[in-house]
Amino acid sequence: MYFRRLKLSGFKSFVEPAELYIEPGLTGVVGPNGCGKSNLLEALRWVMGESSPKSMRGGGMEDVIFAGTANRPPRAFAEVVLQAVTSDREELEVVRRIERGAGSAYRVNGRDVRAKDVSLIFADAATGAHSPALVSQGRIAAVIAAKPAERRAMLEDAAGISGLHVRRRDAEQKLRATEANLARLEDIMAGLD
Ligand code: ATP
Repeated sequence: MYFRRLKLSGFKSFVEPAELYIEPGLTGVVGPNGCGKSNLLEALRWVMGESSPKSMRGGGMEDVIFAGTANRPPRAFAEVVLQAVTSDREELEVVRRIERGAGSAYRVNGRDVRAKDVSLIFADAATGAHSPALVSQGRIAAVIAAKPAERRAMLEDAAGISGLHVRRRDAEQKLRATEANLARLEDIMAGLD
């Protein structure tokens, strides 16, 4: 999968709609301190399903919405659109939007989906909000200090198999529910004998 375009509106310091084309090859983002370089990386992580406000340098998820300045009022929502091309060469458009008091909503190619569906798309493509390809400040030290289980999770993300764990957990849950239903059915049938 490769990313083609990122659109931001009301996200952190990007109060005005902004578009970024990601050309093939190496992309560099340069600018003075505090101009929003890290916010761009956070927008990418956020649209891929990041659910931890802490890793977005905020206290709550709504902190990603433009908070206003001395001469600009705060925004009521933030939206990030990511356009990508999958390994099957299909166009993919993921939209995440958050409104104050209403939480996040996701769309994939125009259809409403759950956060989990978005995370799975990127986990299967060995990328996503926790991808080891996104190296933010302090992350290298975190890798060195990580416990073996955490390091294993990083390797699994890199190998693109973390989506399988999610599916396995789902399947196990369904199996347990089915077993409970079966046991109940057997009780009822025993009562009918
Ligand atoms: P550095 O080079 O220092 O790491 P940077 O270019 O990575 O800086 P960022 O950390 O991405 O910059 O941007 C920080 C700026 O974003 C700050 O000016 C901060 O006030 C602004 N900012 C962050 N969250 C919000 C928000 N919710 N509303 C408005 N502005 C915000």
